[in-house]
Amino acid sequence: MKTFDINSFTRENIRRLQPYSSARDEFQGEASVYLDANENPFNSAYNRYPDPHQKKLKDVIANLKGIQPEQLFLGNGSDEAIDLLIRAFCNPGKDNIVIPQPTYGMYAVSADINDVETRTCLLTKDFDIDIDVIQKTWNENSRLLFLCSPNNPSGNSLSENKIRAVLEKFNGLVVLDEAYIDFTSSKSYSSWLNEFKNLAILQTLSKAWGLAGIRLGMCIANRDLISILDKIKPPYNINTMTQEVAFEALQHVPQQKIWVKQIIEERNFLKDRLEKLALTKHVYPSDANFLLVEVNDAKKIYNDLVKKGIIVRDRSNVILCDDCIRITVGTKEENKILIEALEKL
Ligand SMILES: *Cc1c(COP(=O)(O)O)cnc(C)c1O
Repeated sequence: MKTFDINSFTRENIRRLQPYSSARDEFQGEASVYLDANENPFNSAYNRYPDPHQKKLKDVIANLKGIQPEQLFLGNGSDEAIDLLIRAFCNPGKDNIVIPQPTYGMYAVSADINDVETRTCLLTKDFDIDIDVIQKTWNENSRLLFLCSPNNPSGNSLSENKIRAVLEKFNGLVVLDEAYIDFTSSKSYSSWLNEFKNLAILQTLSKAWGLAGIRLGMCIANRDLISILDKIKPPYNINTMTQEVAFEALQHVPQQKIWVKQIIEERNFLKDRLEKLALTKHVYPSDANFLLVEVNDAKKIYNDLVKKGIIVRDRSNVILCDDCIRITVGTKEENKILIEALEKL
């Protein structure tokens, strides 16, 4: 097992930080009269600050994912976790993060906001990790390395042995984004957390759970890493309504499974029909709820679809995605409308 000491890896100012102590930190438990947090006593539905530790919600999620609640950080979307990981471990103007491309754009944006350099390299032509290339990309100031599996916008899963190789070789934290994990048959890499102390996993309720609107993302990692994220997050980052809606939704796992099954069926239908179109050059294999499609003229097709009130994502400016559009799998009805529109172009 390789050694990785998260405390010495943490930025000096964060390690020394004395976190804010909220009213709900200083008193936990039940009381009949709360006069500690300057809340308004009258509007009784949402007048109280939310639980800063999201205990009830974390218990449900941890149970569902087969992890301990202490291995779980909840954020205002995964985007908050991405930002906090960069802020906790990268010194602005000095350290860098490694991002194999093409992938989710927020990693680089978050790094830019934090004045942290991004070092990019390419995935292979079939969007898998290239170990030689990636090793040449990092240097002694590389702190985080972002991998996304299944990857956005390509849709494929990265190969397991290459993820393992990166975890073994990289002298920093590997952040593995599993936003689309529920659409695959493979299981989460959270089972590797014991073996690899330098692994942090991102998941979200925005995709398979159909809850992009409530903004709930998570980081799953070893407890020492999670406690660092907890230390620097805004105290009440997950609002009461989000905690309630998520708690309720997570009671209905069978419903989520039905949606996922339907989406996968529809993905197969879409792939099949898209491959029959004259304008299609290639439909990439997908383990996610979208398809990356190479067409004969992405910009034109995108604009023609917009005119018909159908919005897809033009990815033709993205590296390795020349003339590609990304199509999210919709309902049976929506997918039919899309295919009929494309047939008429
Ligand atoms: C959609 C998506 C997310 C989700 O982000 P949230 O902030 O949780 O909504 C994260 N990572 C990737 C790669 C995504 O495509």
